[in-house]
Amino acid sequence: MPFRRLIVRQYYVRLAWGLLAGLLPMVLGISISIWQTMSGVTQDAQQRLLHAQYMFDRTLDNAELAASAVMGSAGKPCLEVMQGLRDQVATVPDVRSVNLTEGETIYCTSLYGPVKGEIDLDDYVEGRLDLMRGNPVTPKRPLIVYRQEAGKHSVLVGVDGYYLLNILDMMSRNSPIGLVVGPQMLLRDSQLTDQLLTPGTDGYLEQVSSKYPFKVVTALSNRDYVAHLWDYSKVSLILYPLLSLLFGCWVFWLTGRAASPAQELKRALAHQEFIPYLQPVVTGEDAHWSGCEVLMRWQHPRQGMISPDRFIPMAEECGLIVPMTRSLMKQVREQFAGRVHILPKGFHFGFNISASHCKDLSLVEDCRDFIDAFKANPIKLVLELTERELIVADETTDRLFAELHALGVFIAIDDFGTGHSSLAYLQAFQVDFLKIDQSFVGMIGSDALSSHIVENVVDLATRLELQLVAEGVENEQQAAYLQAHKVTFQQGYFYGRPMPMTDFISQLTPR
Ligand code: C2E
Ligand code: CA
Ligand code: CA
Repeated sequence: MPFRRLIVRQYYVRLAWGLLAGLLPMVLGISISIWQTMSGVTQDAQQRLLHAQYMFDRTLDNAELAASAVMGSAGKPCLEVMQGLRDQVATVPDVRSVNLTEGETIYCTSLYGPVKGEIDLDDYVEGRLDLMRGNPVTPKRPLIVYRQEAGKHSVLVGVDGYYLLNILDMMSRNSPIGLVVGPQMLLRDSQLTDQLLTPGTDGYLEQVSSKYPFKVVTALSNRDYVAHLWDYSKVSLILYPLLSLLFGCWVFWLTGRAASPAQELKRALAHQEFIPYLQPVVTGEDAHWSGCEVLMRWQHPRQGMISPDRFIPMAEECGLIVPMTRSLMKQVREQFAGRVHILPKGFHFGFNISASHCKDLSLVEDCRDFIDAFKANPIKLVLELTERELIVADETTDRLFAELHALGVFIAIDDFGTGHSSLAYLQAFQVDFLKIDQSFVGMIGSDALSSHIVENVVDLATRLELQLVAEGVENEQQAAYLQAHKVTFQQGYFYGRPMPMTDFISQLTPR
């Protein structure tokens, strides 16, 4: 996979990490928001129930007060006590009527005085409270009747539904609250129903009065939670998406910092991950090892050995190819230092040099350092310049190549035949070798037209009076052909693949 594609893939991996990292606070935030809303809405409902129960208790306290005040009148003639009943209605808050009964018969009312009416004691929960749909005076307005008994007599105090509905209305702010007395439930819209909310209902909450036989209830639905999401989770709803975005971007940036091509190459260079592989170059005549080409490999800690085609273009783009080549030359130099005598006389070391390395004279120093390391058994240093990337001749290059030649460095045109180097070009750079591109060597032995092309390339090189190196020799037929055409050097898998320096040295030694 080319290095650029690798970077694109890394970009998507980073994007995925960024999204994942962004999702984390989001999921956390949503969970916290849901939890905050649920506990907030539940707490609010519990408080409303408590408040409602307290207010109903207070209302019934008033009824109890009125009942207690007239309890002494129970059993006395109505005309005698009637005014006392009316006084209670007039003075005690929430009280609409005060009536007296004997058994199940009402015999005296604050409104009409002596009457004869029936009540059903079974309607009174624990004999004390009756929630009614209405009475003959206000048939459409629910009311509650509080009953207090003394022997066969009792006092009935009517509390107007108006007060009850007021409380329910106030307290049903976020979810409807119901007042439950026995089998009946009153809701804020005057609705009286026997369809009670029970503990089995979703989100059911209740508050039971300890003084009177009633309770207040509510059921929180999912809709209630959603409706109040903003009220209880403002902070989370603003903070967490923001945090998610920031965190996601931060992770994206952080992973990108490590993965940018230049950074990655710099890191690899600092860790000496670019190592030389050597491929033997043999003489055309008798195929003995007369030199080698140094080929760069990236020993990546996670991706294993990476071939140069995948990272050299990027290294050239990032301006890192010069220090990388320098590091390669240094490694080869140091590997052979102290054992230069194992090398055959006049052994060639070929290095691939990018055009950008020829922009100043630093290459001269690099070559000098290399050559000096082999003083005890002088070698030939060959710089391979690819024909695909022609160098523009100017003052600097003129000086550079003059100094290189003075130093005894050889110049080879790599991939010859694939570019456009002219005779003038070859002379300008005082080229010593031509490396015939492997695509031409591959044509040997194929159809007549291809063979013709190979012959022409070989002829051209011979007429230019330059030494020839044939690259990519893979079989005996190609080797024999090149030998017959007097090609000076050959290089290819047929003679040896690029290999680590230690392998190269151990294969070289017996020779
Ligand atoms: P190149 O300079 O033309 O190197 C020859 C390439 O052909 C090498 O590929 C080598 O392994 C391969 N090869 C050798 N014999 C055979 C054969 O018999 N058959 C076939 N099919 N291939 C053969 P490698 O090592 O992958 O290098 C690829 C290219 O990367 C090189 O092409 C060169 O242009 C560049 N390169 C390698 N090392 C360096 C370096 O240190 N600096 C620069 N600037 N470029 C380098
Ligand atoms: Ca080369
Ligand atoms: Ca080549």
